Amino acid sequence: MVEEIYLTDSYVKNFKAKVVKVGQDGVILDRTAFYPGGGGLENDIGKLVIDNKEIQVTEVKRQDNEIVHKINGNLSEGDLVDGIIDWERRYSMMKLHTASHIIASIAYNKYGAMVTGGHISPEYAKDDFNVEDKNVLTNIINEANDIIKKNIDVKVYFKPKEEALKIPGIVKLMGRNPPDVPIWRIVEIPGIDIQADGGPHVKNTSEIGHIELIKVENRGKNKKRVYYTVKS
Ligand SMILES: [Zn+2]
Repeated sequence: MVEEIYLTDSYVKNFKAKVVKVGQDGVILDRTAFYPGGGGLENDIGKLVIDNKEIQVTEVKRQDNEIVHKINGNLSEGDLVDGIIDWERRYSMMKLHTASHIIASIAYNKYGAMVTGGHISPEYAKDDFNVEDKNVLTNIINEANDIIKKNIDVKVYFKPKEEALKIPGIVKLMGRNPPDVPIWRIVEIPGIDIQADGGPHVKNTSEIGHIELIKVENRGKNKKRVYYTVKS
């Protein structure tokens, strides 16, 4: 089993690891801080360094319960490497990810609107909501910015599935969580949002900075797509 470092610490940028397998699609490490994407976020990229030689990691994905690092170079089983993730790209997605939870929670709790789809890239995020009035989304972004300013610590912890299921709201908002794992990772923004979630988040809402609305697109009756980014 690979140790997925980002699940317990999303701030690890450099790490040491051993190559345990070299496959057709890339290398598998005994431990990794490279997020393989998922939950709407894109995967990390970066490099693996061995003997002062840098090998680019161009894609990381989860495949058959393993995390495969696609590389631009050659490594062998048993090689010891230093992994370095592209932090600017990752940190930007962490800010947008935590912002997306705040936005979805306001939408649900105050306006009864659900996220029906979404995507987070390093440059911006987009979310689809089942709302009719596009002004609602402008209001939600403004309210999310008020919450960010409250400097709330984001908590990450683990719970057995049976216990996690008792948390009010955990199920209706967990559409993206793999349902069949015995231990759930819970991400809580106290007083705002609680979700079963596997992705990286910032430690405090203040790190998000300021959410900037890019545009709202009409995607049909009762469906609006909001694009936003974060600025420090
Ligand atoms: Zn999430």
